[in-house]
Amino acid sequence: MVIASRNQGKIAEFHELLQELELHVFSLTDFPGLPEVAETGATFQENALLKARAATGATGLVAVADDSGLDVDYLKGAPGIYSSRYAGSDHDDAANNRKLLAALDGVPASRRSARFRCVIAITTPDGGEYLSEGVCEGRITTAPRGDDGFGYDPVFLIPSLGLTFAELGALVKNRISHRAEAMTNAREILTYLLKSPSITYTSDLSRE
Ligand code: IMP
Repeated sequence: MVIASRNQGKIAEFHELLQELELHVFSLTDFPGLPEVAETGATFQENALLKARAATGATGLVAVADDSGLDVDYLKGAPGIYSSRYAGSDHDDAANNRKLLAALDGVPASRRSARFRCVIAITTPDGGEYLSEGVCEGRITTAPRGDDGFGYDPVFLIPSLGLTFAELGALVKNRISHRAEAMTNAREILTYLLKSPSITYTSDLSRE
């Protein structure tokens, strides 16, 4: 199968997800000629499916792809699917966090609720399409806290723990995160698919 990403961090996470499954796992770095897929969907689901479909179409393999981001209630769901480019197209995490904190300036804690969402799409060469979702509820802080992680981690507080994702560290974050939940569900889907005849083509390929 193929991980529909060229991002080394994501590829590593997916490898972890897939390690117990008997599959040969490629990523888009093994197919350097393939074009980037424009994320033109209106939802996380659509964008994840666009990436997975393109990878299955180009390789003939089962593909997994994810799309994720932060929904802030006070901002009516923004930055949402635009999370990585909220402050501009250069994917600058610090600028995104500054813009978010400015947009929530003066907003009380009770109205700073937010959630990370992650959708994983799985597509198969016979046209099968499966979606797995994970959500992690939290609250936006008034200032960045902590040094671990990436993206919005320093401003995303888990109220029950009193710590941001950037203060929790990878070990704890990777147990409770939106991505962890989506990955757990995706593993179940893939385990089911491996037992079904439709995936035989891919398993045979992996043994070549
Ligand atoms: P994607 O690569 O299109 O899924 O973009 C996801 C964007 O959402 C990232 O660039 C981050 O800005 C944000 N994001 C998603 N998951 C996380 C997370 O676990 N921590 C911090 N930011 C995240």
